[in-house]
Amino acid sequence: MKDKKIYPYSTIGIFGGGQLGKMLAQEAKKMGYRVITLDPTPECPCAQVCDEQIVAEFSDKTQALNLAKKSDVLTYEFENIPADTIEYLEEQGFAVFPSSKVLRITQNRIKEKEFLKSIGILTADFQAVADTSGLEKTFLDVGLPAVLKTATGGYDGKGQVVLRDKKELEDIPADFFPRSLIWEEFVPFAKEISVICARGRDGQTETFPVSENIHRRNILYMSIVPARIPAETEKKATDIAKRVAEGLAVIGVIGVEMFLLEDGTLLVNEIAPRVHNSGHYTIEACYTSQFEQHLRAICGLPLGSTELLSPAVMVNILGDDLNSEQGLLSNRVNCPKTLRSVISGVLKITGANLHLYGKNEIRTGRKMGHITILADSVSEAIRRAETAAGFLGRKGKEDD
Ligand code: AMP
Repeated sequence: MKDKKIYPYSTIGIFGGGQLGKMLAQEAKKMGYRVITLDPTPECPCAQVCDEQIVAEFSDKTQALNLAKKSDVLTYEFENIPADTIEYLEEQGFAVFPSSKVLRITQNRIKEKEFLKSIGILTADFQAVADTSGLEKTFLDVGLPAVLKTATGGYDGKGQVVLRDKKELEDIPADFFPRSLIWEEFVPFAKEISVICARGRDGQTETFPVSENIHRRNILYMSIVPARIPAETEKKATDIAKRVAEGLAVIGVIGVEMFLLEDGTLLVNEIAPRVHNSGHYTIEACYTSQFEQHLRAICGLPLGSTELLSPAVMVNILGDDLNSEQGLLSNRVNCPKTLRSVISGVLKITGANLHLYGKNEIRTGRKMGHITILADSVSEAIRRAETAAGFLGRKGKEDD
């Protein structure tokens, strides 16, 4: 089954039905595939555009098998799917891309950094911390300032604390223990960048143009493409992403997040075994989007050109931007009031493409949508993105 090419009219099964699943499904529908998603939340974003939803927990192996039997190929849209579920399906002979092996490495920050080290790729200094008693020793070995992260389950800044002072060891959230933790040196990076890389079943790799990413409170705020970095750094970043994809022998798209230091050194921070928020710009700005590329890779079809058609800036719309309306939307027919004014403003900006994910609950830090703005130059795209950010109630400075 793993070698069979999966042509349109076949069925793609997606674990996870958030915005990444939705955009994957939209691309799959464009290409003529059927799509089924498995997600515990009824009417999740992906379910709004796909053919069928199986409402189930990701740990439910019976329902996972049900999805597998209905699908010709399986994939996932986020890395916190239990690797056991994916391995179970592989043992039954089903094709899941990326594999459970890739998932096991990338869903655990310790395994991920050890893997990177094993293939000679630089990361922040790190040490695994097994329990509270190990904290003092790690503090001495790696030092401060540091970022203490849960090894599994964290995303968008959840499950991590910055430690600047020894006294702050006492403020570590109680739910960090007895979990496995990783202590990382705090990297004083000059910029954060990422590279989306696809690897096909034949081993061919293709990278998308490097994205320069600006985070606020650990959540991606803005992606700028092309990244404002020297050509040699771009080449280095692209080579690193390819080496990671090859080292993992991944099939599908991965997102490789990196820290760029003042002296040009690149450290890999994280690998996402899936399509990535910093690659949303590819929908409008590249010949092939990251979503289509992922589908091409997992279906055994030729990879597409990743050439950039236009400079682009992506701005995330977070639940925070709709602050007055946190909570469950009682009626989906009613668009939140704050969103209406955002929509009216943003749609007047030349080159703006508005994506709203259709989530029924607004929460702080939750990704509700994004805007991708195209322009003839990066500086003009940033200027327009700042205008868009102004409609989101932000101060509108890319770096504040
Ligand atoms: P992560 O969940 O590892 O992607 O971290 C989210 C964000 O926190 C990153 O994009 C960085 O802005 C910041 N961050 C994570 N790890 C470090 C580190 N070791 N040093 C400095 N900043 C970090």
